[in-house]
Amino acid sequence: MHLQLDQARNGPLNWRDDVAVSAADPGTEGPLVLGCVDCRGSLTFVGPDFLLEARLRYRQRLYCGRCLTAYEEEVELPLAFVVTGRAEESPPAEDGTGAHELEPEDLSTLVAAEGEIDLAVLVREQVELNVPMKPICDPGCRGLCPQCGANREQEACTCGSEQFDPRWSGLEAIRERLGGDLNQDNRPRTTRQPT
Ligand SMILES: [Zn+2]
Ligand SMILES: [Zn+2]
Repeated sequence: MHLQLDQARNGPLNWRDDVAVSAADPGTEGPLVLGCVDCRGSLTFVGPDFLLEARLRYRQRLYCGRCLTAYEEEVELPLAFVVTGRAEESPPAEDGTGAHELEPEDLSTLVAAEGEIDLAVLVREQVELNVPMKPICDPGCRGLCPQCGANREQEACTCGSEQFDPRWSGLEAIRERLGGDLNQDNRPRTTRQPT
């Protein structure tokens, strides 16, 4: 889908599109984005430039840098750009690049030299930029055991009890207490009515 700047001159242009992003998960096989990227937003003329606001929703598949396991997560990515339809002061490009160019120096400004925005290009770029440098499946991921290589999220290894996460000790105590109470409550009641 291409957004025409002219369509927003007389009032905000609201748009919605599903964009397929075929980018691969960096360093691994398989797609980064599962399904399409649901994009919706608005293009508003704020003279002389335009304001492009968008919200991307999609599901992405990444590999945890600690336990090396694939995981999926929902992403909601708000975006905002100033879009300028004015070519730079320089004369019209003579290198034959007809499509609009994204300025890597300033990501908050888009140059739509041809008067339109190619959503597919924009969305793909933003999705790739949003991939974390070090994906983690869960902030508490314990990763691989440095001694035996076991994935400690999936199996317990016996490489030493000092690997027991002390953060769970409080929970353990609570569970024992609860368990004791429950046992008492569940005890069969054999009270007999006095006759
Ligand atoms: Zn992990
Ligand atoms: Zn181990």
